[in-house]
Amino acid sequence: MIRILYATSEVFPLVKTGGLADVSASLPEALCRLGYDVHIILPGYPAAMEAARNESALCKARLQIGHHIVNLLQTRLPGTSVTLWLVDCPALFDRAGNPYQNSKGEDWWDNAQRFELFCRVAALMALGQADISWVPDIVHCNDWQTGLIPVFLEHQQNRPGTVFTIHNLAYQGLFPQEIFRALGLADSLWNMHELEFHGEMSFIKGGLVFGDRITTVSPGYAREIQTPAYGCGLDGLLRHRQDKLCGILNGIDTRLWNPEDDDCLECHYSIGQLKNKAYCKANLQQQLGLKPVKAPLLGFIGRMVEQKGLDWLVAVMPPLLERGCQFALLGSGDRRYEEPLKTLALQWPEQVSLTLAYDEVLSHRITAGCDLFMMPSRFEPCGLNQMYSLRYGTLPVVHAVGGLRDTVFDYADEGPGKANGFCFKEATAASFLGAIERALDCRKKPKSWRRLQHNGMSGDYSWKHRAQSYGDLYLGIMAERA
Ligand code: ADP
Repeated sequence: MIRILYATSEVFPLVKTGGLADVSASLPEALCRLGYDVHIILPGYPAAMEAARNESALCKARLQIGHHIVNLLQTRLPGTSVTLWLVDCPALFDRAGNPYQNSKGEDWWDNAQRFELFCRVAALMALGQADISWVPDIVHCNDWQTGLIPVFLEHQQNRPGTVFTIHNLAYQGLFPQEIFRALGLADSLWNMHELEFHGEMSFIKGGLVFGDRITTVSPGYAREIQTPAYGCGLDGLLRHRQDKLCGILNGIDTRLWNPEDDDCLECHYSIGQLKNKAYCKANLQQQLGLKPVKAPLLGFIGRMVEQKGLDWLVAVMPPLLERGCQFALLGSGDRRYEEPLKTLALQWPEQVSLTLAYDEVLSHRITAGCDLFMMPSRFEPCGLNQMYSLRYGTLPVVHAVGGLRDTVFDYADEGPGKANGFCFKEATAASFLGAIERALDCRKKPKSWRRLQHNGMSGDYSWKHRAQSYGDLYLGIMAERA
């Protein structure tokens, strides 16, 4: 059995700030179903430690890392049979709230130290030096928080192979040079071909330079990040490593996200029986205090940051409100987007619902109850919400970038056999509005609308084949290193 150590800084349902958490739960589970022996390693955040206590987790090893004593706890990811290792170091990880930021939204001052320690522990485990009998064949690293693992493994004898997955290239783990020195990394790593990035230390470059393979979460984003427009300054390096880079589309947990038996919904529906979707809409309108009318209801769920195209959303809302559209918005983030949305919600109380929070149940209800789901992202590595909404017969309106372009097929461009939503190509609010208007026109033609819903709901968004692509990648690395 091939053993994979899956290193991640968040995993659903224990700790989640975005799509990484969903993928870190559903991909390992899918790989286990395919016969891989996957163990996840995660920092011991409070929620994870509490779950571990409930599961009577065992402390399997005690390590001294610098001046920290670290316990390695073995437990299971709740609701699965996947083994979960927790790096228990209270001084670094026993903090309330977000894994990366304090309650004021500021990065933890010692993030470099926190994730360097996490990487060191994962590397010791990978090398069989953590006093644990289980040793992986492959270490699968995710995002900058795990970028030093391939660095620590490089030049080690009998090391496992490494995969580094980019979930979002915009987050790079950049720190001042003094921190590089304080971490005690080899001086030889301080150069532009290794960990230095324009005078700063870059965690993500560790993964991009030293990973045996680099993957990202859609073929579209894999192409885009090799261009200056989307490469965040790393496009040259990625082009240099293009023969080791590929895009594998994310899957979704089709058991958690299933309109036929979703625990978060009061009524269920299916591709052949869509009637109850209207009840989901009525329930949502009632829950959110929206007027119970048949007007189009448009949803948005996500981090309210520049990436997600919130300024375009704010710009298109007034003309659509004038036309009677309703909005169900869920998320939180930058004040520059939250404030204008608050103003719109106050001005149009019967048509705009704004929930500035993180709410898993509401996210399912919005996905089911809306007619259209908006993702006007400036860039989108993969995006999960468009796949959730496709599965729920809620037609997505998306900017044709990254994983959105790989999953949403426009009504105008594609034949009736494939189209499942609406895309806009030009990066402007006017172009976004144009796509929504086309969607509203289509809604007036029930036959076409149903066809799009049908195409969306019958798509395969599961991990089955996509996880196999990771499996093939692991086998390729192992064959190369044998
Ligand atoms: P990203 O990782 O860039 O934030 P993704 O679309 O890949 O975006 O994944 C975001 C995930 O987080 C989805 O599962 C989405 O439903 C969820 N999510 C984001 N914000 C919220 C929120 N406020 N409440 C509930 N779920 C949220």
